[in-house]
Amino acid sequence: MLWDVAVIGGGMSGLVSAIEVKRNYPEKSVVVFEQLEKVGKKILATGNGRCNLDNMTARENDYNNPSFVSFALNKFTSQSNLVFWESLGLLTVSDSEGRVYPRSNSAASVLDLLRFETENLGIEIIFEKVEKLKKEKVFLINNHQAKNVIMSCGGCSSPSQGSDGSGFDLLGKMGHTITKLSPSLVQITTDTKFVKTLKGVRVKGRLTLKEKEKILGISEGEILFADYGLSGIATMDLSRYLVKAKNPENTKIYLDMANDLTEKEILSYLFARQKNNPSLECDNLLSGILPKAVGKVILKKLNIFPGEVIGNLTKNDFENIVKTLRNFDFKVTGTKGFNFSQVTSGGVDLREVDEKTLMSKKINGLYLAGEILDIDSRCGGFNLHWAVSSARLAAELKG
Ligand SMILES: Cc1cc2nc3c(=O)[nH]c(=O)nc-3n(C[C@H](O)[C@H](O)[C@H](O)COP(=O)(O)OP(=O)(O)OC[C@H]3O[C@@H](n4cnc5c(N)ncnc54)[C@H](O)[C@@H]3O)c2cc1C
Repeated sequence: MLWDVAVIGGGMSGLVSAIEVKRNYPEKSVVVFEQLEKVGKKILATGNGRCNLDNMTARENDYNNPSFVSFALNKFTSQSNLVFWESLGLLTVSDSEGRVYPRSNSAASVLDLLRFETENLGIEIIFEKVEKLKKEKVFLINNHQAKNVIMSCGGCSSPSQGSDGSGFDLLGKMGHTITKLSPSLVQITTDTKFVKTLKGVRVKGRLTLKEKEKILGISEGEILFADYGLSGIATMDLSRYLVKAKNPENTKIYLDMANDLTEKEILSYLFARQKNNPSLECDNLLSGILPKAVGKVILKKLNIFPGEVIGNLTKNDFENIVKTLRNFDFKVTGTKGFNFSQVTSGGVDLREVDEKTLMSKKINGLYLAGEILDIDSRCGGFNLHWAVSSARLAAELKG
């Protein structure tokens, strides 16, 4: 059979683009090729099972290549994506930071409604890994044929959910350039001398990634200590900047655990504690502003004996405590890698794709959507926003 449109990859961007093609062109036959035993496996894992499917504040500057995403984002805004979701029957809610979730609070609802609509529209799903793709007069896809192809195979992140990087191999063989691929939105491994004892403890703060003296990036939010290093949303966001490092082993993370306070405020807090309770053991000095375990680690780093009473601490001790609290440094050793990362930094070189149609400039009739392109963003619904908006643009088949 010669299909009008073959979508390769049944993840978020593949399912949305298949639905949109069929809605735009009801007469066209549409097939989705998915290598796993079911479509949309990754969708179920997103947002800790809640699927943070969009962000109402998403703008071009939230992405690594603003000028490329600009057209798609202006045409398919978050607002318009919500209308798309509503058309499937999915009601959504958004929080104070613009993060959009299904009203049911369940990622399964998102996948169910996508599946119901593909069935409703008569979209065929073939569970088969695409291993051969070439263009002659038409596209040859394994033993199938199609007039147009939408590539939506994702990147290399979380390969257990299907995105094993095979889309890059297929496109590489067809002459596309694939930029450097690295795990992004991923936990960062560091020297563990101080973090080990803090496993499972969370703080809020600001992280700065530096290569020697050069700042590579800054993120704010929750930091979760782990026995291998740092996790939590602020860490995942910071991991995006590691790709900027010439030598990642020369990078350090500086954690400010009091970015909401001035140094003066922290110092006067410490002096007040000393005045009010001079016989209190140092162990408890920071208990009012940080988890106790973190306070203890700060003192350990400064070699202050935990059993010392705070009445014996000097102004110099307090200044050192403030410095450490605001600038706790961790030597970066790497990341947890693609198996744990949420997105892939790098992908199909954007210079080879028309940003107004998402059609390849090298192969007529080949469209690209979602993470397979060299586009990524931070946590908060921005990556699924791109998956959906780019899928809707590709589905116009306007090349
Ligand atoms: C744990 C986790 C949580 C996340 N949470 C969020 C979140 O809450 N909000 C957010 O915005 N983003 C989140 N992300 C990122 C987001 O899920 C991705 O950016 C998005 O799913 C990318 O969509 P995609 O369709 O381009 O690729 P994918 O979702 O990776 O889908 C690609 C599909 O193609 C199939 N495929 C690949 N190669 C082939 C082949 N050769 N033949 C046939 N089929 C193939 C795969 O099996 C897969 O089903 C999360 C990611 C992870 C891993």
